[in-house]
Amino acid sequence: MHTVRVEHQVHRRTAELRESLAARDQAEAKMRESQEQMEHLSRLSVLGELSGNLAHELNQPLTTIGTYARTVLRRQESGNLTQEAITEASSEIAKEAERAGGIVQRIRHFARKRLATREEVNPAMIAEEARRLIVGMLARAPEVSIENQLTGNCQVLADGAQILQVLLNLIKNAIDASRDLPVERQNLRIVIEPLDNRVALHVIDQGIGLEAEQIPHLFEPFFTTKPDGLGLGLPICKTIIEAHGGRIWAEPNQESPGMCFSFSLPCHELSA
Ligand code: ADP
Repeated sequence: MHTVRVEHQVHRRTAELRESLAARDQAEAKMRESQEQMEHLSRLSVLGELSGNLAHELNQPLTTIGTYARTVLRRQESGNLTQEAITEASSEIAKEAERAGGIVQRIRHFARKRLATREEVNPAMIAEEARRLIVGMLARAPEVSIENQLTGNCQVLADGAQILQVLLNLIKNAIDASRDLPVERQNLRIVIEPLDNRVALHVIDQGIGLEAEQIPHLFEPFFTTKPDGLGLGLPICKTIIEAHGGRIWAEPNQESPGMCFSFSLPCHELSA
């Protein structure tokens, strides 16, 4: 009798345990899904903020293509269409179409919905990609210089699109902070350097900077000093970097007014 009761209890407890494990798995899957959705939305939001000028940027190559095509038609109608004119027009049209296509491709690649991954990525290549996106999307993009001080082969194990998203957020904020200043203060630097077996990326601007007492609150949700700001960009950057085993911080620019936003990531391969 006792054994039967014990067995019954064991069965019941096992069933309860199985149920609670299944519920936990379900909750975890839901959380992962929500997190992926949030990251996707925040990627779209940084694109939205950057792409105010995108229509203008795409308009330029399209106008050039139209002009060349019309020139060929006009010359054909008037009977003075030379072989050189066709070659020149075709090569310019192809070049401009590739330029426009490149911009669209980059944006589609960045904005597409996908699962988080971990792959070997080169931090300098991500910085380069961020610069290309910024230059492609902004009509009056500031100069963005990249100083790569890594001597060896340094790869990080990361989700490249997420790290790119962090860099774009930092660059967008830096542009916001220097937009109304003289043009020489709008230039940005991205410095990549080894830091205690890690790789650090710094985005350095010469913008309006921040008061010392504001700096500790930067990564808190809803901290914003912009009239239309959401205060979510930096907290999302922090979530992404910490999920990669990294750290993100901000300090005043050491050399001039402005700020330096930095993050470090563990190096997968670092040989001097
Ligand atoms: P949002 O851009 O919507 O305000 P963020 O979380 O990206 O949200 O930024 C929070 C705040 O941090 C900004 O409102 C701004 O005050 C400050 N900030 C971020 N980057 C810089 C920077 N490079 N220079 C000066 N202030 C900055």
